[in-house]
Amino acid sequence: MNVLVVNCGSSSLKFQLINSETEAVAAKGLCERIGLDGRLVYQPTGGEKEVTEAAMPTHTEAIKMVLDALVNPKTGVLKSLDEVEAIGHRVLHGGAKISDSCIINDEVISVIEECCDLGPLHNPANLMGIRACMELMPGKPNVAVFDTAFHQTMPEKAYMYAIPYKYYDKYKIRKYGFHGTSHRFVSKETIKFLGLDPNNSKVIVAHLGNGSSISAVVNGKCVDTSMGLTPLEGLVMGTRSGDLDPAVLEYICNKENISVSEMVRILNKESGLLGLSQGLSSDFRDLSEAMENGNPDAKRAIDCLCYRIIKYIGSYIAAMNGVDAIAFTGGIGENAALVRKTVVDNLSYLGITLDEEANKARGEDKVISTSDSKVIVAVIPTNEELAICQETAALVKNQK
Ligand code: AMP
Repeated sequence: MNVLVVNCGSSSLKFQLINSETEAVAAKGLCERIGLDGRLVYQPTGGEKEVTEAAMPTHTEAIKMVLDALVNPKTGVLKSLDEVEAIGHRVLHGGAKISDSCIINDEVISVIEECCDLGPLHNPANLMGIRACMELMPGKPNVAVFDTAFHQTMPEKAYMYAIPYKYYDKYKIRKYGFHGTSHRFVSKETIKFLGLDPNNSKVIVAHLGNGSSISAVVNGKCVDTSMGLTPLEGLVMGTRSGDLDPAVLEYICNKENISVSEMVRILNKESGLLGLSQGLSSDFRDLSEAMENGNPDAKRAIDCLCYRIIKYIGSYIAAMNGVDAIAFTGGIGENAALVRKTVVDNLSYLGITLDEEANKARGEDKVISTSDSKVIVAVIPTNEELAICQETAALVKNQK
């Protein structure tokens, strides 16, 4: 089944056309600067990358340009749009009502609308993408794959914040967690690749990229995760602070005479690796190069990043009363041998040991712990687009 996977941001739209049986990507690309001037980057597999500048006032024009590119007689990969059998949309927030991917109908649209408060940057954009596809490809099934869904199995003790209960009652303030599509895909793949018992397994997934989160997965079900009501909680990320004492907000707001919203923006956009390195970079590669050249700002940022990962892994081992496997994924998790080594070396008290040679691995499923390590450590590349494609195809086939 040919599935068009669509991931809408407020002014951007990423897409991939994937065959769910062969897992082959026929074409992929990106629309940027939607609402400003508009730019489409289109890359058919095996062909030349094309860049087209054209007005894209809304996501509807952006999707229209993507569809035109896909059926373009010269560089398109489809003869007609009839060959697109389903559309899978990445949706940020499904709140507490949605615990799985679903075929989009009026009810699902209402839930995504209700959750705009919780995901103000993403949910409205996700809705625009959904509506544009419905308008331009009437009658085709659209599926919503939620970033929060996989984490809906967390028990109350993991998702509740210890604040007056009325805020949960009134506003559903709680931990939701994000990157769920990746955590689901990687935890499943880890169980399969390592031959673990799906009904008797404890896995920690460390998704480390520009945004990062860790999850604890027992028997394939998420029991805890590091991101919270929003993606701000948890690990040190590219530009997000992750955990901090909430009193820091009031203190800085008073000292600098700035609003809470401005402070939250700083915590999302100017903190994390970028903030700790005094503005040097939010990108791990830049920082690791600078650290090698003796830059103390880069070293501070990387030390804090690794330390927070170590603390979360330790706490999730305690929360699950053990662990069978730890999987690293995401841009940093899949590529940064240094981060994996720093983290695994700090787990030696558990008899977890790293195979330094295997740790040079990149971009493939690979065990990186020694054969006598008490816990298996592995690199498991994530593929969120493929996961969205597979979930979309499974739902649509089931419906037929
Ligand atoms: P993601 O958000 O998953 O695309 O990950 C982006 C992060 O991964 C950035 O901080 C990159 O610097 C980092 N990254 C990507 N490739 C590499 C690499 N080869 N070595 C180290 N870090 C990398």
